[in-house]
Amino acid sequence: MPLKVLIIGAGICGPALATLLRRSDPENSITVVERYPGIRHNGLQIDLRAWGVPIMKRLGLINAVKEKCVHESGITFVDSKGKQHGLFGVAGTETGQQSFTSDFEILRGDLSQILYEASLQDSDGRLDTQKKQESTPEGEYGPGVSYLFGTTVTRLDQDEKGVDVTFSDGRTRRYDVVVGADGQWSRTRRMMFGEEAGIDMFKRLNVYVAYFTIPKEPGDDDLARFFHAGKGRGIATRTGDRPYTQVYLMVRTDSEEVRRGIERQSVEEQKETFDKIFRGSGWQMDRFLKGMAESTDFYADSIGQIKAPHVVKGRIALMGDAGYCAAPVSGMGTTVSLMGAWTLAGELARHRGDVPTALEAYDVKIRPYVDAAQKLMPGVPGIMTLESSWAISLLHLIVSILSFFKIDKILMRLAPEEKGGIPLPEYPELKGVYPA
Ligand SMILES: Cc1cc2nc3c(=O)[nH]c(=O)nc-3n(C[C@H](O)[C@H](O)[C@H](O)COP(=O)(O)OP(=O)(O)OC[C@H]3O[C@@H](n4cnc5c(N)ncnc54)[C@H](O)[C@@H]3O)c2cc1C
Repeated sequence: MPLKVLIIGAGICGPALATLLRRSDPENSITVVERYPGIRHNGLQIDLRAWGVPIMKRLGLINAVKEKCVHESGITFVDSKGKQHGLFGVAGTETGQQSFTSDFEILRGDLSQILYEASLQDSDGRLDTQKKQESTPEGEYGPGVSYLFGTTVTRLDQDEKGVDVTFSDGRTRRYDVVVGADGQWSRTRRMMFGEEAGIDMFKRLNVYVAYFTIPKEPGDDDLARFFHAGKGRGIATRTGDRPYTQVYLMVRTDSEEVRRGIERQSVEEQKETFDKIFRGSGWQMDRFLKGMAESTDFYADSIGQIKAPHVVKGRIALMGDAGYCAAPVSGMGTTVSLMGAWTLAGELARHRGDVPTALEAYDVKIRPYVDAAQKLMPGVPGIMTLESSWAISLLHLIVSILSFFKIDKILMRLAPEEKGGIPLPEYPELKGVYPA
């Protein structure tokens, strides 16, 4: 029996799951509902590491990723005068085993677009016609994938046989499975566990990050730069081979005022808060703050991890940041969200006709991957957001020594390719994927 699936959120893992489910059974009817009017292209570089690399290979999308990859030569640390301390290059292994800079650095919007387009391709690789993508009441139950943009879900009522979904436009539909892929503030999670419990599952790291791009200037080369500005502030720039420069402003603070000025606030309010924190902090800060004020792709959020004891309730499941956000400072958020799509699609194919059993298996099987992804490297995020000038000087000395003796390369070779040493689970039942 083909499945009727609703996926809430067209970020990274939402379209990835839609692609896997469609390929697994072309008769599956998959609706993806996204609250924005289209695919969101904001966000800067994200990494594919560990299991993220083989999953994109299995999907036949690794070449599409490579074509869009931002090519960086490595990362260096700079002081307030722009002087470099240490230099760490890319690993160049093209496997899950990588150094500070991933071999697969891709802009979030590009990865989202690749996965979105893949979900709209039929088994011969043809793109669906626009007519099919536009969801009509009949079309939503037809085979394939349809996107409902500018829409959210306001209510979920489930019984043993299915889930009744009420959309923000007042329509109701019944699905076999509902998957919340709606990011770290997931409304699906709050509907499943209750408003307060759903919010409390977000464990703050008391770190806030702003992401935006500014015009490229001479001196912005293919080396990523990290500047410790002290007082818990870190600034990174990345240009790679692009005609613009990406700026990341990061601050670690337990100030309630800062939290209130950033978490779930308007862009204007967030920009004002970052301006106050970073003004006068050295290096090229005046240029960055001017660029921030003028940027149209600004995105900021509070950094934390979602600790949900379970990601399944009956026929409703959470996936990606919604269920197990690993935090951008882990470098594993995108990878573990793809792992969620892979495992959920695999279990639904394995337990065909028995959705509750498939979801229970997903809930258990995803856990070790989540635990591994959420394990932050020692010292993170403190080491990126140092307080005092002596700590910054000490760090510059250490990175210079590590880089001179190429100790980073030795450490990388010793690390397992798969994070936590756990391999990608195999699902022979999953159709339309490429062999290992
Ligand atoms: C705009 C944006 C920019 C980002 N930039 C970065 C970055 O620069 N670096 C980084 O490391 N991580 C970034 N992230 C987070 C990163 O994408 C995720 O950590 C990771 O890729 C896992 O993706 P996901 O699909 O689980 O969630 P997300 O990529 O967060 O996608 C969630 C999707 O759900 C949609 N959504 C939310 N609520 C609802 C609702 N109620 N109904 C319908 N749809 C809803 C959102 O609009 C979004 O499209 C960003 C996320 C977003 C949304």
